[in-house]
Amino acid sequence: MPKIGFVSLGCPKNLVDSERIITKLKTDGYEIAADYSNADLVVVNTCGFLNSAIEESLEAIGEALDENGKVLVTGCLGKKSDMIREKYPNVLGISGPQDYESLVKAVHDNLPIEHHAFTSLVPAQGIKLTPRHYAYLKISEGCNNSCTFCIIPDIRGKLSSRKLDDVMLEAKRLVNAGVKELLVISQDTSAYGVDIKYAEAKWNDETYQSRFIDLARALSTLGVWIRMHYVYPYPHVDKVISLMAEGKIAPYLDIPFQHASPRILKLMKRPANATNTLEAIKRWRAICPELTIRSTFIVGFPGETEEDFMTLLNFLEEAELDRVGCFTYSEVEGAKANDLPNLVSEEVKQQRLERFMAVQSKISAKRLQRHVGSIQKVIIDEIRHNENIALARTQYDAPEVDGVVIIEDVNDHKGIAKGVFVNVEIFAANEHDLFARLKMNPQ
Ligand code: SF4
Repeated sequence: MPKIGFVSLGCPKNLVDSERIITKLKTDGYEIAADYSNADLVVVNTCGFLNSAIEESLEAIGEALDENGKVLVTGCLGKKSDMIREKYPNVLGISGPQDYESLVKAVHDNLPIEHHAFTSLVPAQGIKLTPRHYAYLKISEGCNNSCTFCIIPDIRGKLSSRKLDDVMLEAKRLVNAGVKELLVISQDTSAYGVDIKYAEAKWNDETYQSRFIDLARALSTLGVWIRMHYVYPYPHVDKVISLMAEGKIAPYLDIPFQHASPRILKLMKRPANATNTLEAIKRWRAICPELTIRSTFIVGFPGETEEDFMTLLNFLEEAELDRVGCFTYSEVEGAKANDLPNLVSEEVKQQRLERFMAVQSKISAKRLQRHVGSIQKVIIDEIRHNENIALARTQYDAPEVDGVVIIEDVNDHKGIAKGVFVNVEIFAANEHDLFARLKMNPQ
């Protein structure tokens, strides 16, 4: 994994910026190096408040260039880019304070990271940078499973969970920095804490265990939307669904089922493959009727017969999942599945993908109809003044991977801004998106 050296100077506000940038870089798959010599690139987050701080920042840039050579400069001194360029013409890029987006983009441009649909936690589009009103919160690294199409356990090692207080500290910092929605990610969120024996941790004078349900409970006290990704259907997930029913965390579960044929799930060595998934879904919906389920699937896995594929389509029809992504199987270098016999031809894979998506499109359209006529609280992600619309999301949709709410006639409403919650009335839906009008003034 590419490694970034990070030098943070200046006030506590700058420190919060540094934490936000580091969180984002780690989520994108970068590691933070302990020293210059181990780093592939160095970021210097500067201060430019007093002359002494300017001098200190310039010195830090010079030292990073001498020791490493590849340097990006950000922070307050970034506003005086001419001064920096004059002294150090060979810095790779300069961005200003709180301009996380430009800095993280510059890191990606100068030190690209490989993205693979089966192994990356954050969607490829996610690398386009999260706006400041939502953020990914990584609760563990690595994985104890051994899915045959995946090499994460080989490259990132066994599950290594962060203690709950450490996760909460980061979550709190993100909320203090303006984040209104936290997307909890890991390779296997429901396994959180098993490696550290669910270690006890204190947070806000309460004792918690470092386990999935306790983490959900602790996060629910932060007053922001909490969204759970990469959950496997183990029995203890039911308790988290109860929290959703109580309105404490978003009624949203991202569960990568990958297939429904027991034979293929066995070949894939998927965790919790013996669970009766349909029963679990029914049970969850009984506990929390509002629950939205997102999943991903792979078609054309080695050995997948027409019968296996039909089992998958039948499952889709019965499960009526809300949001679904589908990939055709492709080899990942070093994965055990590469040795499996009975490869499916590219042509059949494509046909199955199209058949799959045709079934799912109808289901998705049907599921979205249940929101038509309702009033929903949404968060605004983007405003397009030239089209007089805003793109927003309900708590039922995750950014970047799910659908959006298209709010019409927003130009006359002052206070409509990115990251603001508003109430809207949904008046129509298509396969993926909802259409709405503003119902109330922004909160
Ligand atoms: S659960 Fe399976 S697919 Fe996910 S990271 Fe672990 S081994 Fe890979």
